[in-house]
Amino acid sequence: MSKQYRTIAHLVDGMETSDGAGVNLVRLLGTPRLDMLDPFLMLDAFHSNDPDDYIAGFPDHPHRGFETVTYLLAGNMKHRDNAGHEGTLGSGGVQWMTAGRGIIHSEIPQQVDGLMSGFQLWINLPSSHKMMEPRYQEFEADQIPVEALENGAEIKVIAGRAPNGTEGPVTQLVTDVIYMDIVLPHGVEIDLDVPAHLNAFVHTYQGNAEVIAGDKTHSTGNGLAILGAGDQLRLRGSGDQNRLLLLAGEPINEPIARRGPFVMNTEQELVQAFMDYREGRF
Ligand code: FE
Repeated sequence: MSKQYRTIAHLVDGMETSDGAGVNLVRLLGTPRLDMLDPFLMLDAFHSNDPDDYIAGFPDHPHRGFETVTYLLAGNMKHRDNAGHEGTLGSGGVQWMTAGRGIIHSEIPQQVDGLMSGFQLWINLPSSHKMMEPRYQEFEADQIPVEALENGAEIKVIAGRAPNGTEGPVTQLVTDVIYMDIVLPHGVEIDLDVPAHLNAFVHTYQGNAEVIAGDKTHSTGNGLAILGAGDQLRLRGSGDQNRLLLLAGEPINEPIARRGPFVMNTEQELVQAFMDYREGRF
């Protein structure tokens, strides 16, 4: 079977918004422009040197029916939940939280000044796993491998496998997901396997990058570049300091009933989630 390179199907800009107790962020996915890309429900980017943008954090709030993945580029965030699980996420670290049947937690910055930068991704769970026991997969920066290619590209692998076989530490995956943070020097090209059954997008958060497919070259922009059909991805750095996320996931293809912190399949399950939360069953 010959390889098919993915092109950019469309570009979606993020929207500035505020969440938690007043954290200013850019919502890239989960907006009126693009409400989801199955199985991904939301992607927020936060990046600020101004503590007023982040200091209040996210006080106690519930989740049910999906996973939240927090990836910090810079900063320190303390996490605590109602089951007694707590820890601090530092620069370069990842917390992959499977909320399952329910978690009530807080996410509070442990710094009063300096840069706070990173991403939070929400990944849906299939109906068979929405009520699973909550679990965490947490890794500090030095536990997440980086594949350095000869051409100067660096691929940090959170989930999935890089071209020379480097595998990400997040291996307990309900849905098949690839999550990579890539440094691409100017003019450098890389090819990545992005299997055909996965929905995929690129978010260039620093500099500029291009997606190349045959004789077509398109800029990824700085919002979401949603990728079309294919099983290969060719990327090229086109700015000076280029950094981007590659996300790919297997679509779940189930109905979604979603309100606030709960993502279920039916309205009835949503009502149940609110009732369970109110009555202390989380
Ligand atoms: Fe949360």
